[in-house]
Amino acid sequence: MKDPVRLLVIYTGGTIGMVVDPASGALKPLDFDQLSHYIPIPDAFSFSMEYLSLNPIIDSSDMKPSFWVRLAEILEDHYNAFDGFVILHGSDTMAYTASMLSFMLENLNKPVVLTGSQLPLGVLRTDGRENFITALEIAASRHQGNAAVPEVCIYFESKLYRGNRTTKLHSGDFDAFFSGNYPCLAEAGVRLKFNHSHIRRPNFKPLKVYRELSTDLAILKLYPGITPQAVESVLGIRGLRAVILETFGTGNAPTDPWFLDLLKEAALRGIILYNVTQCKAGGVEAGRYLTGKTLVDIGVVSGYDITTESALAKLMYLMGRYPEQERVKEILPVSIRGEITPE
Ligand code: ASP
Repeated sequence: MKDPVRLLVIYTGGTIGMVVDPASGALKPLDFDQLSHYIPIPDAFSFSMEYLSLNPIIDSSDMKPSFWVRLAEILEDHYNAFDGFVILHGSDTMAYTASMLSFMLENLNKPVVLTGSQLPLGVLRTDGRENFITALEIAASRHQGNAAVPEVCIYFESKLYRGNRTTKLHSGDFDAFFSGNYPCLAEAGVRLKFNHSHIRRPNFKPLKVYRELSTDLAILKLYPGITPQAVESVLGIRGLRAVILETFGTGNAPTDPWFLDLLKEAALRGIILYNVTQCKAGGVEAGRYLTGKTLVDIGVVSGYDITTESALAKLMYLMGRYPEQERVKEILPVSIRGEITPE
């Protein structure tokens, strides 16, 4: 007999559901009816599941805030009817979507597992089948009477990651994702091994969905040889409210007076400067070096060990929610969805 767990699978596109277009030789998305031919029959599982396909489905490089809002609304509309959700998504921007959903969905008490693949499901050697089946099993897993993983996460190549801690690291390996600053939430070998002490616990409060997202921000990646023109053009964007400064190492930046003056002037105009390291593991240790300390004096906010994907999502969400810059600046250093390890 089937257990009463009900899952909803949401298909958004991505390689997992693509085929080779005979005309061009490039990969293009299948529609859901074609895709269902390759995915396991619902009868094979102990839980029940339903499918829902977004229209249009996309290559995840076309991801944008309006799509995230639709996805969050679908989750909200189906939240009470299902015990867990699996989102089939392209791997290219999966870490951005997982980060964004973690912020948009406050009081999430059910699993939202994103997965995809490097090879389409129709290909014999596909990684999609294992990723998809295990993502379903994780979404259906229970622990002490509740969902085993009541958070937004990514399952890929035998590992389950906290979504807002994840980065796509490899464009070709099956093992494509990386979480440099937070341990895996589960590993899939012969058994599914959950790392319960690192998984958020349910708070049993009603789900709240935030749909206002602000795009009044930019990312400025620092590099040796960066010019005043390059920095000026980013800081001069009309309507800009925040800039993610992708800095070196523990949050360091050049000390050229022109550079610091441009930052000071932007800070005086009320622009939030958010310090995120270019390193894939570790984080900003504000003030460890003089070069980083200067940024602190200007009022640059530390991102601690946040990923760029998560920093972008956090800013879009916070600025969408709060029109006051000071309020956003106040919350940025606080871990609100387990996305940072504050000092
Ligand atoms: N371009 C694809 C996408 O992100 C790649 C993938 O699915 O892995 O939609």
